[in-house]
This record gives sequence, structure tokens and C-alpha cells, in this order.
Amino acid sequence: GFDTETAVAWIDTAATVVKADEARLTALDAAIGDGDHGANLVRGLTAAVAGIAEKEPSTPGEVLVVAGRGIVAKTGGASGPLYGSALRRAGKALGDTTDADAVQLGAALEAMLTAIVELGSAAEGDKTMVDALGPAVRAFNDLAADGASLPAAALAAADAAEAGLAATIPLQARKGRASYLGPRSVGHEDPGAASTALLLRALAEVTA
Ligand code: ADP
Ligand code: MG
Ligand code: MG
Repeated sequence: GFDTETAVAWIDTAATVVKADEARLTALDAAIGDGDHGANLVRGLTAAVAGIAEKEPSTPGEVLVVAGRGIVAKTGGASGPLYGSALRRAGKALGDTTDADAVQLGAALEAMLTAIVELGSAAEGDKTMVDALGPAVRAFNDLAADGASLPAAALAAADAAEAGLAATIPLQARKGRASYLGPRSVGHEDPGAASTALLLRALAEVTA
């Protein structure tokens, strides 16, 4: 299940893959934003990893709350408060459990999405991270409700996030900086959707 060790591995792996793809995230944000998404997230996830090392959380929920606090504190831009609040809310949704099953983790992922939508008021189709996270959460929870294993649900969620990312290319942005470009935002992947796809792929890897 999603226990403390797995939650720590998720944040560690997310930090590693985002660092490895920092230049790609930056290039995506340079095309339709201000070119800082890669650097923003590397800073935030580095703070999240450091916070976990310092606090030594003892439940998966606490791991996500600590990671979310680090991200809020250190990530600049729109994505910091969005991802940071999302992880804090996911952690709170997990409560005191020491080993979350697929249904519990699905509820936590749903809480992430709710936090992002409440804070940023983006809907699917607005060309944001919600276009990757929304389909991922649905895919995860559809499988979890059918009794699928946590690894199977996480794999489906990662695939759905990547499909959602690809589907942002023809969209015109209606939220965030990219919306200032109007029709010129068409033809590019959304950077936040790209980082969300990385986070979901990292989750699939650590739960496999
Ligand atoms: P900034 O745009 O402030 O420089 P980042 O570059 O770190 O922040 O993050 C940009 C990403 O944040 C976008 O690609 C988009 O996915 C996401 N984003 C921006 N505004 C919103 C919003 N209102 N709701 C959801 N996601 C958003
Ligand atoms: Mg930016
Ligand atoms: Mg910025």
C-alpha cells in the first residue's frame, strides 16, 4: 500500500525526475509563460525533500503535509501554492492511516484536485495542470472503485495524465500566464500539465 516509506519515495522520485526534466519544463514555460516552471518546481521539491529529512514524518499523510509546506514556502509562481496546497490537502485526507489502500489514496488524489480547483478555479479544457490531474484522478478512482490494486490504479492514472498533457497542445489557455497570449498559446503543451504527468508517473513507479 501507500505507506510512509512509499510516500517519501514518491516525493524523492518526483524531485529527481523534475530535476532531470527541468530544462524541458522551462522550455515549455518559455514558449507560453515566463520560463521559470522547471526552476520553480526544483526549488519547491528540494525544500520538500529537506523538510521530510528534518521532520521525519511517521505517516504517509504527514509526509505529504510536510512536503506541501516546503513547496508552498519555496516555490515561486502560480504552481507553488497550487501544488503545495494540493499535497497538504492530500495528506490531511489520508488522516492517521499508516498504510493507505487504493480507495484511500484515490480519495487523497481527489483532495489534491479539489484544492487546485478551489484555489485556481481552472476547469478541464483551460490548459492547466487540471487537464492532466483531472483525468488521472478519474482513472485512478474508477479502477479503485472496481477493486483494482493500487499499482494498477496508479499506472492508469499516469497514463491518463500523459494523455491529458497531450490533449493540452491544441487548447488555448484560459488561466494563468499563458492566457495572456490568447490564440498564441495554441500548439504547445502546458508546463504545469507536463509536471503533473511527471508526478503521476513517479507515483506509479514507487507503488509498482
Ligand atoms: P507562473 O506562471 O506564475 O510563472 P509556473 O510557471 O511555476 O508559475 O506554473 C505555470 C503553470 O501553473 C501553468 O502551466 C499551469 O499549468 C499552472 N496554472 C497557472 N494558473 C493556474 C490556475 N489558475 N489553475 C490551475 N493551474 C494553473
Ligand atoms: Mg512560469
Ligand atoms: Mg513565474
